[in-house]
Amino acid sequence: DPRKEGIASSIKVVPHVPKGGIMFQDITPLLLDPKVFKDTVDLFIERYTGKDISAVAGIEARGFIFGPPIALAIGAKFIPLRKPRKLPGEVISEEYVLEYGRDCLEMHVGAVQQGEHVLVVDDLIATGGTLCAAINLLERAGAKVVECACVIELRELKGRERLKDTPLYVLVESN
Ligand code: 5GP
Repeated sequence: DPRKEGIASSIKVVPHVPKGGIMFQDITPLLLDPKVFKDTVDLFIERYTGKDISAVAGIEARGFIFGPPIALAIGAKFIPLRKPRKLPGEVISEEYVLEYGRDCLEMHVGAVQQGEHVLVVDDLIATGGTLCAAINLLERAGAKVVECACVIELRELKGRERLKDTPLYVLVESN
């Protein structure tokens, strides 16, 4: 699909951000080009329209950019999976290990129903730790994660393998 080339070329690689040795994939130039931003969202919408998905869960913060337009287009609800202490109501939390230290994702209790089919959206998969935590959180709440969708996959880190039985769909691969 030629749209994927436009998406790939609008992602800017910024060396040594947030720290030395890391090549940060910056998606903000993609958002500045309405055609490329629309192509990105459209590719996901084309894949998920008509599928049995009633909820899109977006991971803070960049999953909040791509998740909601997909949810609206396919007629699904949007569930924000947030960093700790951001949601005001009762939450269910899932801790996960980062390269240095720990992080946590939280979701409001009652956001998903038992057996509900959910699509998880984020901008990028690196080690897969974040998506893995999102899957665990949703499954503990009784939902079924039918797929994870990201704009970018960093292939070298093999994050895909951590998702086990949950399929991963990406638009652009990088090393
Ligand atoms: P993982 O848990 O798979 O190691 O890291 C993925 C998470 O970290 C995602 O939520 C993603 O937004 C963020 N992240 C890690 N590296 C990058 C990067 O190079 N670019 C962007 N845009 N996000 C990143």
